[in-house]
Amino acid sequence: MKTRSHFGHESPNTHSQSIESNVGHMSEATAETLLAEKGHEVVSVRPADSIRHVVEVMNQHGIGSVVVKDQNGHLVGILTERDLVNGFAVHQEDTPDNTPASDLMTKDVVTATPQTRILDMLKQMSDHRFRHMPVLDGDHIVGLISIGDVVKFRLRELEYESLKLKQMIVG
Ligand code: AMP
Repeated sequence: MKTRSHFGHESPNTHSQSIESNVGHMSEATAETLLAEKGHEVVSVRPADSIRHVVEVMNQHGIGSVVVKDQNGHLVGILTERDLVNGFAVHQEDTPDNTPASDLMTKDVVTATPQTRILDMLKQMSDHRFRHMPVLDGDHIVGLISIGDVVKFRLRELEYESLKLKQMIVG
């Protein structure tokens, strides 16, 4: 059996199709598309802020990560719940008041641009085993996409696709 792919060419259709051919519209959607729905707010802290402050900020906003920005607003790190768990396990003698965010953050941040395809972000998250990606337009942080945002986005697409199919059948 043959199917027509999103790119218009015919490809063999087997039960073990690639992820790409199974994700429908998501193969074309970009970070920009998702952020247009989600919004552009990105919660940040400074490198010198204490871990107590970081925990309070995450709790207040109900989020699992913060980006770390320097005084010029440039991205210098990312700090997630995972880093807090690791920090607690490894540095049990340090107090949250004496430990700065810069001690626990990851400095080499993998980022996306507004044009990055969501599917490629998902691959990066899966390859590097993290669940958050800041989106940068030049030097400017324009959003943060988590794996949860991607799942939510895809669910909405599936609901929409199912509705369209029902409408086609009903006529
Ligand atoms: P997460 O699964 O997002 O909670 O993160 C797991 C680990 O990867 C933590 O040490 C994070 O600091 C780190 N991390 C999260 N997102 C990124 C990213 N976009 N680039 C680099 N490291 C990251």
